[in-house]
Formats: sequence, C-alpha cells, structure tokens
Amino acid sequence: MNKPIPTSLLASRPGVAALPSVDRVLGLGFAARFVEEHGRAALNEATRALLAEKRQAILDGASPESVWPAGEQWIEAELERRLEAASRPRVRRVFNLTGTVLHTNLGRALMPDEAVDAVAMAMRSAVNLEYDLVSGGRGERDELVEGRLCELTGAEAATVVNNNAAAVLLALNTLAQRKEAVVSRGELIEIGGAFRMPDIMARAGAKLVEVGTTNRTHLRDYGQAIGPKSALIVKVHASNYAIQGFTAAVSEAELAQLAHRHSLPFMVDLGSGSLADLADYGLPTEPTPRQSIDAGADLVTFSGDKLLGGPQAGVIVGRNELIARIRRNPLKRALRVDKMTLAALEAVLRLYRHPEKLAQRLTTLRLLTRVRPDIEALGRRLLEPMQRAFEASANVSLRECQSQIGSGSLPVDLLPSTALVVSPAVSGRGAGTALKALEQRLRELPIPVIGRIAEGALWLDLRCLEDETAFVAQLGQLAPS
Ligand SMILES: *Cc1c(COP(=O)(O)O)cnc(C)c1O
Repeated sequence: MNKPIPTSLLASRPGVAALPSVDRVLGLGFAARFVEEHGRAALNEATRALLAEKRQAILDGASPESVWPAGEQWIEAELERRLEAASRPRVRRVFNLTGTVLHTNLGRALMPDEAVDAVAMAMRSAVNLEYDLVSGGRGERDELVEGRLCELTGAEAATVVNNNAAAVLLALNTLAQRKEAVVSRGELIEIGGAFRMPDIMARAGAKLVEVGTTNRTHLRDYGQAIGPKSALIVKVHASNYAIQGFTAAVSEAELAQLAHRHSLPFMVDLGSGSLADLADYGLPTEPTPRQSIDAGADLVTFSGDKLLGGPQAGVIVGRNELIARIRRNPLKRALRVDKMTLAALEAVLRLYRHPEKLAQRLTTLRLLTRVRPDIEALGRRLLEPMQRAFEASANVSLRECQSQIGSGSLPVDLLPSTALVVSPAVSGRGAGTALKALEQRLRELPIPVIGRIAEGALWLDLRCLEDETAFVAQLGQLAPS
C-alpha cells in the first residue's frame, strides 16, 4: 500500500543541488489526489513555487537540511495549503461596518432577494434579452426596463449603460461632439478616484464652456455663454460636496427655459438621484429624476447602484428623439449592459411599484431607514461576545456615531447610529501598531469585518449589520493577539 516514507528527499549534493526536482516531488504518493482535486497545472505551479522559495532560502545562506525537513508529510501539508489558498474565491463577502452605506470600494448597493433571484435565473437560462415574445421578432434590450423607468420618472424614453459615468459620456458624445457644452464652474466636480466632469466632457469630444464662479452662477452667465457652437446646457448635481454661504445657482426650470429659447437641449446629471422621495421615509431629501423632468430637463442621467439601490448601471431618461439618437451612437453598443444587470435592475424597479413596502424590501432603503434604538439594541447583544473574543487585548464599548449614505449622496446629512468601538489595551507608544493589528485580526476572519479608524480606535458602525448570527458565529475564530 503506502510506500515507505523516505527520511529525506534531499540528495547528498551541496547547496541548491540538494533539492529534489519538480518531477521527484510530483511522483510522491499524494500527487494523484491533488491532481484530482486541483488539476495538474495547479499542482505543478504550487510545486514549482515551493521549490523556488526553498532554493532562494538556500541561496540566501540557509542549509538544505534546515529548509527541507525529512519526511513527506510536510510537503503534502505545504502543497495542500498552497493549493487551497490559490483556489479560494477572490471575491469575498465582507461585513461593511464602515458606517458608509453605499461604499464604492465595498460594492455599493446590496441587492434585495428579488434581484438576486432574477439574476440567478438570467444566468442559468436563455432569456428574452433582445427578443419580443409577442411578435417573435427582434427586440431592444432597453425595453425590458424602459417602461418602468418612464413610469417612475415621467420621462418619454429611457436607456441603460454600464454606469453613470458612461451615461454622461454617451449623452455628451451624442449631443455635443465638436460643439460646446455650457456648465457652471461650481459644478465641475470630481467624484472620487478617476471621475472628473471636465475629463469626461473632453473624452466625449465636447468643448467645455465654464460659466460663473465657484460659488455663484447667474442666469445671465449662461445666457452670455450661449453661441453658435453651443450644443446643450448641462447641470451637474454636485452631490459629494456642499457650497454654503454666499452662493447662487440657477434652477433647473430657468435653465430649461433658457436652453429651449435657444433651441438647445438641457441635460441634468443627477449622480445619485432617488426614484422615491426620501422625505417620505424620514430621510433627507435628494432630488429625483421626476423633478428634473418636470422642470423641463430633456435628459437626466443617474446611477443604478447609488440611492436607487440596484446594480451598477447608468440610466439616461428623457425625450424620445434624444434617446433614439443616443441609441444610434456606436458607443452605446460599447457601453451596453448585460442580461444580469437588466434582470437585477428590472426586479429592483418593480419594488418601487409598492412604496409602502419599499423601506422593508429595498435593502439600501432598509439600511438607511434603520433607527438608532434598533442598532443600539443589536450593539448591546454583541458587546459581550465581542469582549470575550478580544479578551484582554482590547476594550470594547458601545458608542453613538453617525453613518453616511456614501457614493456622493447627501454628503452633509448624517444618520444617527451606534458603533462597537474597539480600542487597543495598550496606550501611548505602540498604540498605533496595536490598532493596526486589531484591524488586521478582524480582516482575517472568514468573513472579513471592515470598520473605520477614528480617535485612536476601530469603530464598527452596526447600521449595515443584518446577519447577526454569522457575525457572532465567527468571533471564536479571531486570531490571538
Ligand atoms: C456618482 C456620480 C457619477 C458617476 O456615476 P457612476 O455610476 O459611479 O459611474 C457621475 N455624476 C455624479 C454627479 C455622480 O454623483
């Protein structure tokens, strides 16, 4: 049965020449099991990496015997560890306890079960993506969501692309290529990392005409900027910052009238845009696409995965004729969304038909409307298990905090919440290192826990924690300090 275990696979040669060959290792008894479980290529790769590491250690001065123990079991265990690490999924579930509900780095909106089921169905099956089930002829993929989007915004037509940055790019490229787009200086915003309004306009081939000043722009500023090369007036909802004090901006209704007097379209980039009036749910108000359409906007763009609570997407709603032109732009083909996005978006839009149940069913809205007493009660239940998990290495307490909506939405409006605050037991020198170590131990849990550092402690805002059972169940696996 089992071959006798050799005392060592090392050859009696000096230095790296003592190491066994890849083939020698692959010929060991356990190799067949690894080939079956992970495939030959992965096993070859892991073996090569193991040998390369040991070779380097010897070149760095270690003796072959110290880096290559006798017996086969350690090789088996080492290869198994490497193969398992390499085959672990790279997309991992995490607990977002950062206090930012729509966290771009953590994937923004969480999807309701209705959307999850719709996506799973669309992934497993053929669907009527561009097929009209009534006529049996070719359909248009936008039609799967267009009706609902029009119903919810009051627009005549709608189209969907990969994200809102793409929506702005596509709309401007269609309407303003080699022409001028008139925008207020106060709205030339950067939205995190790589999205800067002026850059997108340049890539769209539109020449930017800036009007007004950073804090004040008047109707006459727009009027004076309109000329023979003007293609449209654009208003950008400066969603991720607020200008306060001596400010002036022109209303959408006035801009729409001005644009129409000059036979130009008026476009609004809402950024987030909420399809429901958030005030109805006790939240700070956020402009809705319907308000822009009612004010006379010809096109409105907004994100699918911000306040809408759906998948990453960019929605363009507006006048029939303009949407038709946008659809004919070859860039539309390059920026189009797939069946999974449409399935998720359609399922989410369907939930809006029942506003009374929306705060319960739409995950984003449910998290945003969670009240502090509920969050605090959760905190009280978690306090003791957390203290037990950290033992003497940290102090855990319950503190009031403020959550953010995130993704540039409602930047100045904070939501009252409660956090578990974990502070390192050491203070003074070494506290910073201890805090980093605490953070890392939580990140190394099977479901990594992501918090936010403030005031020398790690704050775990509990607003977005719904799976209490899974959170508690893994605390026992916290690495020792
Ligand atoms: C977020 C945002 C965008 C970009 O939207 P994505 O869906 O992230 O591409 C564009 N404009 C405004 C005003 C925004 O807030």
